[in-house]
Amino acid sequence: MNASSNNAISQEPFDDFDLNEHFESYILLSQNYREQFSYPWIAYIMMFDHFSLLKDETRFRVSSARNLWVSSNNYKPEQKFLSTKAVHNEQPVRNKKFLILGEKLPTASILFPGSNAYEEAIFIGNLLYRFKTPSIVVQAVTEEDVAVTVKFAKEHGLKLTVKSGGHSYAGYCLNHGGIVLDISSMNKVSIDHENMTVSIQGGAVWRDAYSLLKEKDLRLMMIGGQCPTVGVSAFLLGAGLSPFSRRYGLGIDNLLEMTIITANGEKVTVTHDDIDPAKRDLFWAIHGGGGGNFGITVSVKTKLHNLRDPNGTVVCGELTWNLPKQEADFKAMMNVWNTTTWPEEMSQCLKDLAPLFDFNPDNGLEAMHWTDWEVIDASFDVFSQVYYHHGSFIFAEGGITPKVAAIITQLMEEAKTLVPDSSSNSASECHILWDHIGGATTKLKPEDTAFPWRDGVYVATVRAQWVDPSLHKRMFEFVDRAKELLLPYSIQGKAAYINYIDSTVENWQEAYYADNYPRLQHVKSHWDPTNFFQFEQSIEPVGHKRTHHRKPGWKPWEKFTPPTPQQLGNPKTKNHVYATNAHIRRSMLSHKE
Ligand SMILES: Cc1cc2nc3c(=O)[nH]c(=O)nc-3n(C[C@H](O)[C@H](O)[C@H](O)COP(=O)(O)OP(=O)(O)OC[C@H]3O[C@@H](n4cnc5c(N)ncnc54)[C@H](O)[C@@H]3O)c2cc1C
Repeated sequence: MNASSNNAISQEPFDDFDLNEHFESYILLSQNYREQFSYPWIAYIMMFDHFSLLKDETRFRVSSARNLWVSSNNYKPEQKFLSTKAVHNEQPVRNKKFLILGEKLPTASILFPGSNAYEEAIFIGNLLYRFKTPSIVVQAVTEEDVAVTVKFAKEHGLKLTVKSGGHSYAGYCLNHGGIVLDISSMNKVSIDHENMTVSIQGGAVWRDAYSLLKEKDLRLMMIGGQCPTVGVSAFLLGAGLSPFSRRYGLGIDNLLEMTIITANGEKVTVTHDDIDPAKRDLFWAIHGGGGGNFGITVSVKTKLHNLRDPNGTVVCGELTWNLPKQEADFKAMMNVWNTTTWPEEMSQCLKDLAPLFDFNPDNGLEAMHWTDWEVIDASFDVFSQVYYHHGSFIFAEGGITPKVAAIITQLMEEAKTLVPDSSSNSASECHILWDHIGGATTKLKPEDTAFPWRDGVYVATVRAQWVDPSLHKRMFEFVDRAKELLLPYSIQGKAAYINYIDSTVENWQEAYYADNYPRLQHVKSHWDPTNFFQFEQSIEPVGHKRTHHRKPGWKPWEKFTPPTPQQLGNPKTKNHVYATNAHIRRSMLSHKE
């Protein structure tokens, strides 16, 4: 993950600002290894993403209920679009069914495999999961489109998964052979300044929300994610770590209301003080139960906050220690980091961080508007040609002991042997990132929300990313090894974070939900008794037999022959990428989930 701001990071960032006086800052600590740098350990001293990226990509559609055609302003009119007739002729039985759906949908478009529009709608960066092939994509525009699609899929026994931002680490927004409901057009945001709340449609990504806040009032801030293209709904459903969490809690701690289309296709709005106990239970369950489990979120209402600085300025940047040169400084700093009681909110940044400055970091801090801190993850970009795999851990206060720091150093040494030649393979990397939460996130009890790890203070993710398909086995083994070494130090020796979902977690029910899992099953039994919303790690109704069985040692990469770099080629335009993906998909159709 590259962190960069709009402005170049300067070694002398404090010229015009008195950081001791005016700015708020929050800390995210990460240890990062990339071969091309010599071993940097970085403390990101927050802030945040920049959201103007991709603004010009807003698509428009040419569609009607009768002509299931879609287009987009990316495509030239002379390009071939699938016509209902053509599809009908090729796949008469399958598509007859979908033509019926098309008649029922008030405003949505339907996309079939073979078109660039289909490829664009289901695009995900990770090559491990990119080629899951749904029969159709429904691009919903209204809540009614969502409800009609859910009812249709249920009636016809079809799989259905929903896709918003497409950032599921395990590609769980996609499926093979079913319907993918793309709700990314449902992305409106409205602010109620008087009541300090914001309402966001279920398909919005953080960029949609933050750009409106910035436009309305520079001071306005909300508890959202660090990546502008992460979906708001799924981020919140999975608890939601934010750079502001130490002060204001998790995303779910700020959630006021959620509207969901349930497995029956009904619209339900839930709040914490509902009279109906079943609705109250559902509100509890969506506080960390995870995306794709209870229904389709079509809107959320959450709290707004004001930053103290009138221009919404905060301190962001990185403190970096170069290893092995600065190993002694680094180790001493980590010990101080781990044993210091940090404030929930840093009102005097330099003073608050003084204990770290004693250990000679490269100082990349600067003051900027909170939305101008950009975290770019190139592996989610349309030109991404990488495979990646994650594991996650949650540690309690004081969890980064010298022993843990030594294990991480050892793992980073191992990583060097995996990505040895950065010059020819610069997209390959291994890193461990630590989100520093605590403070307000620890104020609730484990059973107060579905997210149980309230004593968690560091949420870590280990990531392996590679380009060469022959590295699959070694990279998975590297993450397995990191888990083997670090899990014993995580809470109860098992805590993992649902939003950093990992398809290889053993006993994920306990790892994500601990003692809250049985209650989640009861809620599931009430709202989705037939287990309509399901994927490999979805919550099961009580007494339900698991439909997805995982053999011990199962590895996702064993499921298919991955595309080679030669097949992927070197596309220069998005349309070329989509056309290439369509071509590869066709040649992979024999591979099953
Ligand atoms: C680069 C990057 C940065 C991240 N930063 C953070 C962070 O700072 N803090 C944090 O907590 N997490 C973070 N995450 C994790 C992120 O919150 C989760 O991966 C989240 O599930 C992504 O949501 P999405 O809509 O983008 O993905 P999708 O793949 O579209 O959806 C993820 C899952 O939720 C389901 N889903 C999507 N939309 C809905 C909906 N409307 N209703 C019900 N289910 C739905 C999907 O079916 C899928 O199972 C980050 C992830 C990435 C890749």
